[in-house]
Amino acid sequence: MKTQPQIIIAIDGYSSTGKSSFAKLIAERLGYIHLDSGALYRAVTLYGLRKGVIGGGKIDEAALVALLPGIEVSQRPDTYLGEENVEGLIRQMEVSSYVSPVSAIAKVRNFVDDNLHRMAAGGGVVMDGRDIGTTVFPNAELKIFMTADDLVRAMRRYKETTDPGTTFIDVLNNLRDRDRRDSTREVSPLRKASDAIVLDNTCMTMEDEMAWLTDLLNSKYGFSL
Ligand code: C5P
Repeated sequence: MKTQPQIIIAIDGYSSTGKSSFAKLIAERLGYIHLDSGALYRAVTLYGLRKGVIGGGKIDEAALVALLPGIEVSQRPDTYLGEENVEGLIRQMEVSSYVSPVSAIAKVRNFVDDNLHRMAAGGGVVMDGRDIGTTVFPNAELKIFMTADDLVRAMRRYKETTDPGTTFIDVLNNLRDRDRRDSTREVSPLRKASDAIVLDNTCMTMEDEMAWLTDLLNSKYGFSL
């Protein structure tokens, strides 16, 4: 069997564009590992909520930063805090409502970046987030920037939500708010790397996306998928 090149694929883009699902499928097809950087920011947020340094609409930044050395986060591929699988809990609306301001704290970003570099050592990685191609792995061999109409994105996310009482408007407002905060923050804002290829999946299925990627990997990088 021909071994595939072990490259780093960075997938960035707006909230709920399906970055993680796409990245996961690519990793499965290539035998790569998938790292979901947003899940690490969510895990830090959940940890802070549990410790009481986040809540009531406020974040005690100094207290959260002081907790960072004690946070043990991993992806196996579900996200774990210590030995607890928190994959479901980190997707709840309470975490979603604080995660963008938490991720704007420079020391939180350093903590997450260090963990991502540790987990990606060895290559053969598909990583998704907001700043992977610009900051975390600026030399990634392939960079994809995902976008889609925000109503379409909110509807996809709304269909997945398990929070009772969460409405479509809640989901849409949260998504727009995160996009705005992520794009305008000072540290590592969400933006397309100059060498990233745009994938607008408003009218695409996952199969369409895989076909698009297969062509790209075959023609540009010599993969045989
Ligand atoms: O990808 P997901 O929507 O789960 O990410 C949650 C949040 O984490 C984003 O809204 C963003 O604020 C933050 N994030 C980030 N940089 C990344 C990944 C996620 O700031 N690389």
